[in-house]
Formats: sequence, structure tokens, C-alpha cells
Amino acid sequence: MGLFKKIFQKSKQDEIQITVTSSKIAHLGDYGEDLPPLNYDESEFLTEIGNTEPVCPYCNAELEKFPQRKKKCPNCGNPIYSRSRPLDRKKTLIREDEVSELEKEWSKLRLFREFELEYRTDPDCITKTAGKLSEKFGYKAAFNDVLWSVYSKQRAKYASKGYWGYYRNSTMKMGQMLSNEGKYDQSLNFMLETLYLDLNGPDNHGHFNPNRPNEELFAPGILQDIQKIASKGDFSDTKIAESFILHNTTIYKALKLPLSPEEAWKQQQILTEMRVNEEYPGLVYLNHN
Ligand SMILES: [Zn+2]
Repeated sequence: MGLFKKIFQKSKQDEIQITVTSSKIAHLGDYGEDLPPLNYDESEFLTEIGNTEPVCPYCNAELEKFPQRKKKCPNCGNPIYSRSRPLDRKKTLIREDEVSELEKEWSKLRLFREFELEYRTDPDCITKTAGKLSEKFGYKAAFNDVLWSVYSKQRAKYASKGYWGYYRNSTMKMGQMLSNEGKYDQSLNFMLETLYLDLNGPDNHGHFNPNRPNEELFAPGILQDIQKIASKGDFSDTKIAESFILHNTTIYKALKLPLSPEEAWKQQQILTEMRVNEEYPGLVYLNHN
């Protein structure tokens, strides 16, 4: 195994808890009650997937009690999955082929929470962007198209002002968004770019300085994000290393960064090794062989 050994796999339960937490944060906006209602609603894309009654989703046999985890139907023998659905947070019984469908709904909801958060931060920007896009498309633009457009605009603005720290954050958000949409190839590039920017030490005053103290360089979370995307997209360690160099060569030239992708990759390996040996919190999962 290479650098990105498959170690960081969150359970579904963890993801659900994260969603609930971010939903709470999303409702703590600065605008309070004065904020006009958002012209988008999560019920537009959430469904009544599965059975909320103790009934087998294959053969409709009544079950003795509601299974709390995966269970074989005593009548037809098929695997019944017990999951909570985002629509109403109710536990529901689903078929094997519905598992990925349900996961997609959770992903979309996570994205929608980000959208709500952006709206609370800058409602005018969301409203104007939604209006422009809808006019261009000839129908109401989907919330994720609006969110993507807002992120792109913010990122371009940060680049023009030399706010490289914020630029880095936008790059990461866009990568996470692509991952939530199941676009793992594109997502990987955005996340590898985020890591590359981190290693170059971005600040919000127009500079990059890769020679900051080690502990200030890249956040452990970014490696874990890359790990997750690699696992979902089934990317090998070689592919990750190659993509890092290939994608970031363009960035290196465009932004005239101090560290070349090759130097940055080497630096990342050294730092990761140091962190593993010194057991930095958050990186204990990373196994660097
Ligand atoms: Zn059954």
C-alpha cells in the first residue's frame, strides 16, 4: 500500500450526524427573522423512500418488529436495509438497490445546507445569481447550479484581490460540492489543488509562503477528504500522485507559485510522515508506508 491507504471510511451514521449538525449551524444566520424566504426548498428533491412500517420492501411481508439494522427477511430471504431518510428523519426499510439512492439524497441535502448557509451570508448574491441563471436557462435554475456559480464568482474575486487563503477555501468548497454530486474525477482535482495551495502557504495579502512552521501547513482534513474521494471514485494511490502533478502543473504556471508540484508532493510526504510519527491529532488515521 502507498500513501493513501484506505483507512478513513466514515460510517453512514457519522454522515447523518454531520448533516444534522451543519443544519443547525445553517439556521444561525446573521439576518434572523428579517431574511426573506429562500425561493428553494429541500422538499423539492427529497422523497418518501422506503417503508416506515415494519414491512419487507421486497415481498411486503409483515415483520415481527422494526429492524434497527440490516436484516434478512424471514419470508423472502432478501437483505432489508434499515436507514433514516432525509425527508422526515424517519427510519425506513429499503431494498439493496435503494441504498445508493438514499445516500444521494443525503448528499444533496448536505449541499442544500451549504446553499442555505451562503444565502444567510449573502442573500442578494444568491437571489441575483438564481435570477440570472433562470433567465438564461429559461426555467428555474437548480440550487446546485446557483451555488456553483456563486462559488466560481467568489473564487475569481479572491484571485483578483490576492486573497489566496479565501481562494483556497473556495477551491475546497467546490471540490466538496463535486464530490457530493458524485463527480469524483473533477472533485479530486479541486481537492489536490487545495492541498497544493496549502503547501505553498497562501495568505490573504497577495502572497504565498511555503516556509511557515510545519504545523501551520495543510489541514489534516484535506487529506481525509482526498482519501474519501479516492475511496468513492476507486482511485489508486498512483492515480492520486499523478493527478497531483498533472493538474497542479497548470496551477503552478498560472499562479506563479513558489513550490513546483513535484516539490510540493515531496513536502507533503515528509510532513505527513512527521505528523504520523508525532501523532498529531486528526492524522493518526493516516498510514504512510
Ligand atoms: Zn421479504
